[in-house]
Amino acid sequence: MKIVDPSVVSKEYTELQQLLTDVQKRQKAILTKEWRSEVKAESIDKEFPIIPQLEETPMTIPAYAFSLESTIEAVKTYSAELADDLDRCKKLLGDETVLRWLKEALRYNTNYFQTFAEEHRISAWFPHYIAEQALRPFLQLIAERSQSFTDEMNVGGACPCCAEPVRLKKGDMFLCPRCEALWKVKRKACAHCGEVESSAVYRVTVQEEKHSELEVCDSCKNYVKVVIDVTENNAAMLDLLTLHLDYIAQEEGYGEV
Ligand SMILES: [Zn+2]
Ligand SMILES: [Zn+2]
Repeated sequence: MKIVDPSVVSKEYTELQQLLTDVQKRQKAILTKEWRSEVKAESIDKEFPIIPQLEETPMTIPAYAFSLESTIEAVKTYSAELADDLDRCKKLLGDETVLRWLKEALRYNTNYFQTFAEEHRISAWFPHYIAEQALRPFLQLIAERSQSFTDEMNVGGACPCCAEPVRLKKGDMFLCPRCEALWKVKRKACAHCGEVESSAVYRVTVQEEKHSELEVCDSCKNYVKVVIDVTENNAAMLDLLTLHLDYIAQEEGYGEV
């Protein structure tokens, strides 16, 4: 993979991400009032991610449909070129499709959304992007309600709440860009495979980059991005602002290929 100029990548997407972060905040505020359930620590097996274990979630068809619609409207204000695709997409979202999207978004099933896009002649990246962004307020609310015990969880190289692979570290905390969960770094070891050898797990600094580093592991060939001295707390935004580090890591043979 070629290294993409980070300023080119982030400017466009940063604006869109900021816009969607605001939309998601509003959506989450509504859900916070509607969903009154607690996530009880004692009902959760600490070795497995929380979300698939919940007997009841805030994810209903009407709530997700509303979130999809708000996401589509927000993206529309951002890109007029996509308006046609967006309108077509919106018309296709009946109850049955909304339920299917919810299930496939939870599974992070890229194939399903790609096929959907092809079938309906919508830009390939678009249905999954919308489905995922619309899901985030729900994931964020569950993460917030689980915050009191995420430190006790032990899910290996994944987010204890939504199961997203670990990607981001700030101070002594891991942050999940998908559900905004926060949990403590318990020991000095590779976040993915648990390797402790310092010759295999080490920090890599990037030229002219003061606020982020890579922590790579030669045992499992994976990595985590480390942010240093930044005030930004939104993990989705931090993930985006360090997107160039993903390119660098992948260029060096770390992470998914
Ligand atoms: Zn997560
Ligand atoms: Zn490792």
